[in-house]
Amino acid sequence: YESKRQHLGVVHYRPDFDQYDSTTLTLVGELGQAIANGELVLHYQPKGSLSDGTVTAVEALVRWQHPKRGLLYPDAFLPAAEQTELIDELTRWVLASAGEALPALDPTGQLAVAINISARSLARADFTEDVLTVLAEHQVDPKRVILEITETSLMADPRRAARTLDELHQAGVRISIDDFGAGQTSLGYLATLPISELKIDKAFVLAMLSDERNAAIVRSVIELGHSLGFTVTAEGVETTEILQHLDAYRCDTVQGYLLARPIPSEALAAQLTAAVDLLDVTLLRPRP
Ligand code: C2E
Ligand code: MG
Ligand code: MG
Ligand code: MG
Repeated sequence: YESKRQHLGVVHYRPDFDQYDSTTLTLVGELGQAIANGELVLHYQPKGSLSDGTVTAVEALVRWQHPKRGLLYPDAFLPAAEQTELIDELTRWVLASAGEALPALDPTGQLAVAINISARSLARADFTEDVLTVLAEHQVDPKRVILEITETSLMADPRRAARTLDELHQAGVRISIDDFGAGQTSLGYLATLPISELKIDKAFVLAMLSDERNAAIVRSVIELGHSLGFTVTAEGVETTEILQHLDAYRCDTVQGYLLARPIPSEALAAQLTAAVDLLDVTLLRPRP
């Protein structure tokens, strides 16, 4: 691992660079340096359970504390990284950092950590091995790890993706389908995958009270997920009213600014308590 780290500062010229514009190249070069310099940070956002009012997991979301440009969000640098192998370094860094942070984030050992995986990383032949190696290096139980994969990533090479997900599942890692409803996954294909969770794309959740068609999609995804034996999570929950509707629809888990924004690990403990309190006062249905 150390020897790999040493290359990170310099992004060597590779023939595949020819196809990229200079902005992408500059960004990728800087980002390689940034990983080596420790400029990336993870913020964490809780996932709250509607069935028992607890926080079950936190999702790690990467940010770049840029020395000149301030805090950059994934939209500003991930698309460039995803065009090159640098995304694999980033994925390994995220796994390692989240793994390292987990004992302090969660002294009770109950929380799972969710990590977003880009299509390009999922497509690597040795992706499973990479993941399991990093987790082992940081003594992270694979059962406490959820990998969030978008429909688009699956559809790039559905058969390879299915094989990779099977390997990860065998090792105990949970699989979540992120931004569900925004892509074009075949339902027949989806039903064969070892999935634990569907995350409803936040576009549907954000608009579900202003447009009945969005509410219909949200209800359908919840029903579909349950029929296939998956947990269903709604992302983008910003209001109490939406949370209560989701609860009435028997959505399992929620994530969104109402519960907590993504925040640095130091601030997480307080937010976890606040999120549980919020669920306690918001959920109307009696809990077991
Ligand atoms: P995502 O995985 O679907 O994450 C949800 C995004 O919605 C996050 O944006 C989050 O901050 C934001 N969000 C959370 N709650 C709310 C809410 O209530 N309302 C609204 N409007 N937005 C909310 P963020 O952090 O900017 O990340 C954007 C995307 O970048 C993520 O979408 C994910 O696809 C990708 N990403 C983030 N971190 C990583 C990473 O470490 N690796 C990879 N490969 N992708 C990442
Ligand atoms: Mg996600
Ligand atoms: Mg999402
Ligand atoms: Mg997204």
